Amino acid sequence: MRHELLFFLYSSISRIKGVGGATASSLQRLLPAATVLDGSGMPIVRDLIFHLPVGLVDRRFTCPLNTAPDGVVATFVITVESHLPPPPGIRRGSRRPYKVMCYNDTGEITLVFFNPREDYVKQVLPVGSRRAISGRIDHFENHLQMTHPDIIAPVDKLAEVQKPEPVYPLTIGLTSRRIAKFIATAMEKLPDLPEWTELSWVKTHKWPTWKEAINAAHHPLLPEDLEVASLPRERLAYDEMLANQLYLALVRRHMQQQPGDIIRGTGKLAEALVARLPFTLTGGQQSVMKEIADDMTSGRRMCRLLQGDVGSGKTIVALLAILRVVEDGKQAALMVPTEIIAQQHYKTLSALIEPLGIKVALLTGSVKGKARKELLEGLASGDIPVVVGTHALFQEQVNFSHLSLVVIDEQHRFGVSQRMALTAKGNAPHLLHMTATPIPRSLTMTLYGDMECSNLREKPAERQPVTTRVIPLSRYDEVMERLKSAIAAGEKVYWICPLIEEKYIEGELELTPEGDLAAAETRFREFKKRFGDVVGLVHGRMKSDVRNEEMQRFSSGELRLLVATTVIEVGVDVRDATIIVIEQSERFGLSQLHQLRGRVGRGNKASACVLLYSDRAGDVARSRLAILRDSNDGFAIAEADLNIRGGGDLLGTRQSGLPRFIFTDLVRHQALLEHARDDAANLVATDPHLQGQRGVALEILLQLFGFEFQRQSDAEPLASARAAQS
Ligand code: ADP
Ligand code: MG
Repeated sequence: MRHELLFFLYSSISRIKGVGGATASSLQRLLPAATVLDGSGMPIVRDLIFHLPVGLVDRRFTCPLNTAPDGVVATFVITVESHLPPPPGIRRGSRRPYKVMCYNDTGEITLVFFNPREDYVKQVLPVGSRRAISGRIDHFENHLQMTHPDIIAPVDKLAEVQKPEPVYPLTIGLTSRRIAKFIATAMEKLPDLPEWTELSWVKTHKWPTWKEAINAAHHPLLPEDLEVASLPRERLAYDEMLANQLYLALVRRHMQQQPGDIIRGTGKLAEALVARLPFTLTGGQQSVMKEIADDMTSGRRMCRLLQGDVGSGKTIVALLAILRVVEDGKQAALMVPTEIIAQQHYKTLSALIEPLGIKVALLTGSVKGKARKELLEGLASGDIPVVVGTHALFQEQVNFSHLSLVVIDEQHRFGVSQRMALTAKGNAPHLLHMTATPIPRSLTMTLYGDMECSNLREKPAERQPVTTRVIPLSRYDEVMERLKSAIAAGEKVYWICPLIEEKYIEGELELTPEGDLAAAETRFREFKKRFGDVVGLVHGRMKSDVRNEEMQRFSSGELRLLVATTVIEVGVDVRDATIIVIEQSERFGLSQLHQLRGRVGRGNKASACVLLYSDRAGDVARSRLAILRDSNDGFAIAEADLNIRGGGDLLGTRQSGLPRFIFTDLVRHQALLEHARDDAANLVATDPHLQGQRGVALEILLQLFGFEFQRQSDAEPLASARAAQS
C-alpha cells in the first residue's frame, strides 16, 4: 500500500497544468530513467521532480551599454526608440531580420528578430516603452545587439528577470524554461515528507529537509550549487543511498530468515576430487570452503558473494560446494552469463567430476528438441545432479527434483531483483555468487549489500607474474618481430581485437557484433600471410563446435597464434599461453583488460601482456593503461578505474546490474554510503518491521525510491519484496 503522502508524486505528469499531448510525449522521452509509469505509460511526477538542472544561466550581469562585452548573458533596462522591419518585398523566411532600436542613458542596443510575427514584436516592445530585457549580447558592425532576447518584461519585473535560471537536460520539443515551469508547478503541490534520517546526522551536515533540498536543487544560484557536494544534492544523495541500503538490508534479513537445506555431505566426492587435482588448495580457497560449509549447515539459506581475481581459483571452490550437495543426493546448478562461458565451464566441470561417476548436463538456449526434453526430464527426476547453463536454466519449463545450490559465475550482470527471482525456484536453494571482476567497495555495497562476502585475494602459488607493457600502435612492426620469434620458440599467443561495441540480447551478453568480427577477420588474414598455418581465429558468431575445435587446436599446440574477439574474456583456460596482445586497449574497461590479461600466466611460465593503443588515445586513456601496467591486483585496479572514470560510467555498461542512481556519485559520496550502510544495518536490527516513528518515515523513503516494502508478520517480513529499480 502506497503511503498517501506519495500519491501526488506517483501520479502521471499529465496531471501537471500545461502538460498534455505533445508536451507529455516530449517529457516521456526526456525522462527515460523513469522506472515507474502510471497506467497510461506516462512518467510520474516524482521523475520530473528528480530531473535536476545541469547548469544555470546567471542573469544578474548588467553594465553600461557602451562598454558591454561580447558573448555574455546580460540584463538591461531599455527604452524602445523605433522599429525597423525588413524592407517590404522581403517576407518571412528571408535572412533579413526585424530590428528594434533601443537605448538607455549608457548607450544603444539593437534587438534582432528573425522571422517574428510582426504584431508580436509591436505588442511586446511598443515604441516609447521601457522594458527589462535579458539575453546573450554581441557586437555586429560595431553595434551592440541582442538576438532573440530570452526575456522581455515590464520594468517592475526586473528582479524576477534577474533570477538565475536553471538549465535542464533537453529533448526535442521542450525548452529548459518550460521544464522549469512544469517543475515549479509541480513544486506547489509537493508534500512535506516526515524526516527519515536521524536528526543529529542531518544537523551535523547542515542538511535541509527533503522538500527544501528538492526545491534548492532546482534553484541554483551559483555554479557550486550544481555540484554533488552541495548540501541539497548531498542530502538527496544520502536519501537515495539510505533507501538502497535499507532495502538491501531488508532483503538480506529476509533471505537469512528463510530456512536453507542443511547440507552436510559425506566429503567422499570432494576428497576424491581433491586427490585427483594436480595441485593443493590455497589457504584462501580452504577458508572460503569453510565459510561455505558453515553456511550450508547453518539451517539458514546461504547468500554469499565470492570475489576473486582472474585465476584465483574460484571454479574449484564452486565445484567442491557442488559436490557436497551431490553427496547429499541433491542437485546443484551453475549459471553463467553467456553460452560460450557455459560451454567452457561445462567442459571443465565434466572433465573433473564425470570420472567420479557424476552426471553433468549443459542447458542453454541452443539445446533444443529431443536433447532438451531428455535433459529437462533428467532435472525433474533428479537423475542429473549437476547442470551448467545460461539464464535458460531459470525459465519456467525447467523444474528440479531437489535443487539445493545455485552458483552464479560472473555475477555482476545480475541485479538484486533477478537474484530474488532466482530464489523463487525450487526450495530456496543456497546461493553462491562468484565474480572475477573485483569491484570497488562502494559498488560491492550497492550491488551486493544483500549478501555475505568472501574474497579470494591469494593467487595459486606457482603462478608467475605477468609483465605488462603499454605500446603505441605506431610500433606495430616491432611487435610483429617479437611475435615472430615467440612463435618460432613455440610460445602461445592471444591476439585480442578491438571491442567495438557490446550488445545484449535478452539480458545475455553478446560479445561480438559485426564490427569486432570484421576487425578480427582482417587481422586473421594478415597474420596467416605472415605466420602461416599456426594462426587461428575464434569469435562469438562461430558455431560452437567449430569454435571449440579451434580452441582445442590452440590448446594442443597445433595453433600458436589465436586471433580472438573478446569471447575469450572469461572462462578460457589454456595454461601454457604466455603472451596476450590487446589491440586498441584504450577502448576496454580496466577491469576487463585485467580479466583478459588473466588468460596468460596461468601456468608456471613467465608471461607478457601487450596493451596496444591507437594514436587517437588521449592522456586519460593512457594513464588508465598505466594503472594496469603498474598493478596486478584486481581490487586495486577497480578502485583506481572508478576514481578515474568517475561514478557515471561504472563498469562501462548499463546492464551491470547497478542500481540506477539519480543523485548519488559513488566516488564522491563514498563516505556517506558507508554511513548509510551502517545506519540501515542498525535500523533493521532494532526495528525490522519499520514500526517505530522513524520506521514509518523510512517506509515512505523506500516507496519514494520505488522499493516496495511489505509490512507483514515476523515470519515473512518481505515475502513480496520487489524493487522497481534494479
Ligand atoms: P577463476 O578464479 O578465474 O575462475 P579458475 O578457477 O579458472 O580461476 O582457476 C584458474 C586456474 O588455476 C585453473 O587452471 C585451475 O585449475 C588452477 N588452480 C586453481 N586452484 C589452484 C591451486 N590451488 N593451485 C594451483 N592451481 C590452481
Ligand atoms: Mg572462472
